[in-house]
Amino acid sequence: MSNLKIYNTLARDKQAFSPIEPGKVRLYVCGMTVYDYCHLGHARVMVVFDMVQRWLRASGFDVTYVRNITDIDDKIIQRAIENRESIGQLTQRFIIAMDEDAAALGVQKPDHEPRATAYVPQMLAMIGQLEKNGLAYQGSDGDVNYSVRDFPGYGKLSGKSLDDLRAGERVDVNAGKRDPLDFVLWKAAKESEPGEVKWDSPWGKGRPGWHIECSAMSGELLGDHFDIHGGGQDLQFPHHENEIAQSEGAHRHTFVNYWMHNGFVRVDNEKMSKSLGNFFTIRDVLKKYDPEVVRFFILRAHYRSPLNYSDAHLDDARQALTRLYTALKEVPVDDLAAVTAVDQGEAHAQRFAEAMNDDFNTPVAIAVLFDLANEINKSKSVALARQLKALAGVIGLLQRPADSFLKGGVGSEAAGLSAADIEAKIAARIAAKKAKNFAEADGIRAELAAAGVILEDKPGGLTEWRRG
Ligand SMILES: [Zn+2]
Repeated sequence: MSNLKIYNTLARDKQAFSPIEPGKVRLYVCGMTVYDYCHLGHARVMVVFDMVQRWLRASGFDVTYVRNITDIDDKIIQRAIENRESIGQLTQRFIIAMDEDAAALGVQKPDHEPRATAYVPQMLAMIGQLEKNGLAYQGSDGDVNYSVRDFPGYGKLSGKSLDDLRAGERVDVNAGKRDPLDFVLWKAAKESEPGEVKWDSPWGKGRPGWHIECSAMSGELLGDHFDIHGGGQDLQFPHHENEIAQSEGAHRHTFVNYWMHNGFVRVDNEKMSKSLGNFFTIRDVLKKYDPEVVRFFILRAHYRSPLNYSDAHLDDARQALTRLYTALKEVPVDDLAAVTAVDQGEAHAQRFAEAMNDDFNTPVAIAVLFDLANEINKSKSVALARQLKALAGVIGLLQRPADSFLKGGVGSEAAGLSAADIEAKIAARIAAKKAKNFAEADGIRAELAAAGVILEDKPGGLTEWRRG
């Protein structure tokens, strides 16, 4: 039913996608640890896998999409103490904030958003199974650890051998571990921290390690063997490697068929970090840019490529999205209001599908949208405008009335002229040049320059603009 190919990190290859159960896709993505506002890296994970689940559904699959919420962890405990609030208050506040950010970016709600603290019994059952299978042991400090040496497939996702890991990675040296690479499944409560949050377990009071939660929650909601597991590239090792060790070690069969990882977000070509002062939350960015511009910016890059955030790139994304909305404006609003269905037989739809089926190649799919926009500008075709809106809707773009985007302009009013005003003046200038009225054309260029807008004429009669 689908010609979809997915780059599978586990195979290091693009593979034809074939679901375990025909017509159904079970998808799990590692979600946020809720102790602070979501940053640009989170925005990317949310938007990328939203696009993935939308395309799977548009391809006719019945999708079950799970994105978990980590609501217990060292950082959460630490932050709650600093803020003098309960863990529940802290995590609830940031879950609400995350939902607001996701909604602003056009991210649809996953089918399930399990919270780790609600799945402790499932985690305990899994740790018990691992102990039975000889893969878990309780150390002298009370922690229960996973014995990576006893799981032969360890390293298969990240492509690392245990010896490489031991030599190269920073490993956790801990008195209770038999091997420094072993990771914790259950953290014993410490006598010295009586207020610590803890649960009862066969190994004494304590709380779960981070990795076990995803194995337990995905198993409960999607089964022990499911189709696609996604997350940021930074989770490949050790988190996803450890998930495989846990789930396959407990169940003795394949855990996931396709592993998908989105690339890093960089800021002005540097790693984003609080210490470098180039750390942006989604909220910071939305003060300057329309959320749809941010979504467009994320999807215009291929999900596996690094994504470089800079004001210039966001300005460019805004300008490009303005071009698409301007094309929709060529058509009376009533003709677009009720558009939902894509005309599948039409040539652009076929190219769009081909791109999306090629490992979710959104930059190529978006280039098809620009081809459509160019044709609409020439032909004023209502049918093509409907097609543009419908195709863009498949990846969650261009669904507002054109005027609401073009006039709304978060940040675009700053220089006095809205993006729509500028586009209108550029159109007038092109018309003046065609009529050989060069004085008028030059006058418009000068007027825009005075407002801080610089024009650049490109081959094919196109004019790009930027704010100087
Ligand atoms: Zn996870």
